[in-house]
Amino acid sequence: KVKKSGKQFAVIGLGRFGSSMAVSLYKMGYDVLAIDNDLKKVQDFSNDFTHVVQANSTDENALRELGILNFDVVIVAIGEDIESNIMTTLQLKEIGVKYIVAMARTPLQMKVLEKIGADRVVAPEHDMAQRVAYNLVSTNVMDYIELSDEFSIAETTLPKAFIGKTLIEANLRAKYNINVVAIKRGRHLIVSPMPSEKFHENDVIVVVGDNNGINGLESLE
Ligand code: ADP
Repeated sequence: KVKKSGKQFAVIGLGRFGSSMAVSLYKMGYDVLAIDNDLKKVQDFSNDFTHVVQANSTDENALRELGILNFDVVIVAIGEDIESNIMTTLQLKEIGVKYIVAMARTPLQMKVLEKIGADRVVAPEHDMAQRVAYNLVSTNVMDYIELSDEFSIAETTLPKAFIGKTLIEANLRAKYNINVVAIKRGRHLIVSPMPSEKFHENDVIVVVGDNNGINGLESLE
């Protein structure tokens, strides 16, 4: 897989949410350090990510030794053990980690995690790991739903190259194998835009297509 940027991710907790976040990020070509204090989990996933280590994430020294400060995004994916979840988030904040994503199972937990400084709190029942992962790595893709292994729907800001062009001129279907299903322009939503529709600056486009095409579009400025 082609690496898109040098962004480095650490995922703490290899439960359902953490492991699928780690898989998504790793599949997209990013370096992923996975941490779990359960040796069995560490063994199960030992070959799946860039590094998989056993550590207790509530231990500040252990986190420092892993060089946790060097990671751009650290995801705390501990659900059941609420105390570990909160303590880990707190330690990461204290250490000065740039961007912390925490996972909350209840609204109260969400409040607590926000209060202690998590940059993003996700609720695994509502937020699919795959989608959260995609959102974390891409700057212009705002939302993303995987329809199958190959096809997705994505909402993305219009690449500059297309400003002022019509759908025909942009030729996204031929170039990227994707279809524009809607254009969000300010408060207006243009569903099934005509081929003669011109893109405006600040348009947000909703596209459906294969993942390669969407990635290609996303890598445009
Ligand atoms: P999910 O609901 O996503 O399956 P779980 O709470 O079941 O989440 O899984 C959380 C994972 O985090 C488990 O694999 C567990 O071993 C790990 N974990 C829990 N506490 C710690 C900790 N203090 N340090 C590292 N890993 C932890």
